[in-house]
Amino acid sequence: MKRFFLILPLLCAFGVNMKAQDFYDPYASPSQTPDSIRIVRADVPQIEKQAIDTIPSSDKYIKIVLYDDFTWEYIDEGHPVIDTAGFYEGWSTEMIHAFRGESLESFPDSLDLRLVDSLHNYSAPFLGKVHSGFKFRGRRPHYGVDLPLSVGDTIRAAFDGIVRYSGRPSETGGYGNLIVIRHDNGLETYYGHLSARLVNVDDPVKAGECIGLGGSTGRSTGPHLHFETRYHGKPFDPQRVFDFENGVIRDSILTIHKHYFNIHSHYGQTDKESKSASGNVYYKVKKGDNLGKIAKRYGTTVGALCRLNGIKSTSVLRIGQRLLVRKGTN
Ligand SMILES: [Zn+2]
Repeated sequence: MKRFFLILPLLCAFGVNMKAQDFYDPYASPSQTPDSIRIVRADVPQIEKQAIDTIPSSDKYIKIVLYDDFTWEYIDEGHPVIDTAGFYEGWSTEMIHAFRGESLESFPDSLDLRLVDSLHNYSAPFLGKVHSGFKFRGRRPHYGVDLPLSVGDTIRAAFDGIVRYSGRPSETGGYGNLIVIRHDNGLETYYGHLSARLVNVDDPVKAGECIGLGGSTGRSTGPHLHFETRYHGKPFDPQRVFDFENGVIRDSILTIHKHYFNIHSHYGQTDKESKSASGNVYYKVKKGDNLGKIAKRYGTTVGALCRLNGIKSTSVLRIGQRLLVRKGTN
């Protein structure tokens, strides 16, 4: 892996040198700036060289282009650049979920992830209407979104990254054929129920690259893509990242709030009531509030509010006081 990234600049440098040596005019004045270097071939009339063939190299992002004047060069089609310190933290090609057992305690209240920039694009993994979202489904938490599809449909990498995990149905429990990609901002995306996995562990992938085919493997009632977004192994609603119907991202920077990791927290929810990681719902007391009003708003009773907060029904509420109005299930 590491060696690979070291070789890449060497290949590129070699390619550029080849070109420079072939065409550099040795009789040109040494005082010339690089801008004014004359490209001359003494034996051939000055015509544009034509590419006659493109040959794949051992690196799928680097092609060898042959020209009709018997020269050739490496063309780098844009390799995913992994330059983030700590990219391989919690890395495992054996376990589906990285950072196992890490608690939310040490997590900041919010953090910003840059999703795209001028060099790094995005692609919706699959275009369509979300059939089932990030929520409790019956008694099971559903940690992603389901996008109905036809078996064999193309599934694309959401962002540039490296394949961290690729597992078959017998290894992944309900996920069926599963691919997990780690992106260079630390975000991970999961692609489940695939009929075919087309990339291997440690493969670099580009946003939009076909990584597998849609299917219905694992615990699935019909062909669909189960897509998850996780940070440090912890899932949050992928609809915070993508508008799947229109195939666009919501923003180039994703701000992950700690409460996003709560299964009850989903995209489009009003954040008037802040939810903690435990699933507890709090209310901030405003001017003119009393326990009766707050209880009514949350469909509870004054008695229940008093019990939850260890206060009496006659207690005076302070403006800005945080009241626990609903106990979480987590
Ligand atoms: Zn699902």
